[in-house]
Amino acid sequence: MKNKLKQRLKVKSMQIGFTLLGLNAFACGKSSKSDKQDSQASVANANLIFDESLSTSLTADIGKDLNSLRTWYNDKNVDSINNLKKILNLNEISGPILESWFYDRIQYVISYKTNVKFSYAYAVDRELVNFDIKLRSSPNIVAANLSAGLIEQVKDKTVEDRDAVFLHINGLKKQLLSAHKGVMMIGAGYEIDHEEAKKIPIVNSIRHIAAMLHEARHSDGNVKSKTLGMSHVQCPASKGEELEGQYACDNSWNGPYNVGAYVSEGLAAQCSAGCTENEKLILSFVILDLKSRILVENKAANYWDATPEKSLPTLGIDGFTTFEN
Ligand SMILES: [Zn+2]
Repeated sequence: MKNKLKQRLKVKSMQIGFTLLGLNAFACGKSSKSDKQDSQASVANANLIFDESLSTSLTADIGKDLNSLRTWYNDKNVDSINNLKKILNLNEISGPILESWFYDRIQYVISYKTNVKFSYAYAVDRELVNFDIKLRSSPNIVAANLSAGLIEQVKDKTVEDRDAVFLHINGLKKQLLSAHKGVMMIGAGYEIDHEEAKKIPIVNSIRHIAAMLHEARHSDGNVKSKTLGMSHVQCPASKGEELEGQYACDNSWNGPYNVGAYVSEGLAAQCSAGCTENEKLILSFVILDLKSRILVENKAANYWDATPEKSLPTLGIDGFTTFEN
């Protein structure tokens, strides 16, 4: 047993490194925050499970930002709305539809400040092996999605025969049945905006929403099509020094950056009356920046298969022996 555990932990420590690489690939977006009063924040919160380490004010801000998604409209820009329909493969687009689309893909919200604990489960041996992922966030990261990388670690039987992965959150172990049970990390970029956003609250809120829907897109895709996570690719030199070599570009037309770009365009209508000329200018640059991350043309061949990976079976873990890494 001890040798087996040692072997498992050795393999696992290698794979945590792999997972963190995945995390980098998924860590994206810039940010925002809403300054608007919204008594319905709790409605948005009811759809998500927040880690207790997130401050009350931050969860309230996330709730407000998501509530303002309900005001999405873009009836003046038919091309833009048709693009978003195609990108998301939806017949209709509205604020509530986009909100549901997000909640179908993200379930857990955690802070980059707290190391998050997970367990891999081995059904035959009735064992759980706990491990930590040391989270990190640079100031420009608003959010990141950890789920697809973890699900891939269970689906990939070439390294180890894992049967399930569990997230430890608020004293409970929650099985991640699919990448659609998205675990979204809130990064330093969200909080920095929280402090600085008062100057441009509407623009910042739009950027937060775009980043969160971008992260939700990382819950899509599947192993068979090699699209699980709808991952980014490295940006070429033509994107400038800051982006060259970073996993901050998309080789798909329907990937996370275009989701964020077209959602932002719809929300930009909010800005028409409520924003200063400076805010409008900033928002137009934000949208241009997101669109500049797409390396391919709008052609059928560049729409990746976003069909979600099939769920894993539920695994009961009562009586399992737990090992710590
Ligand atoms: Zn991303």
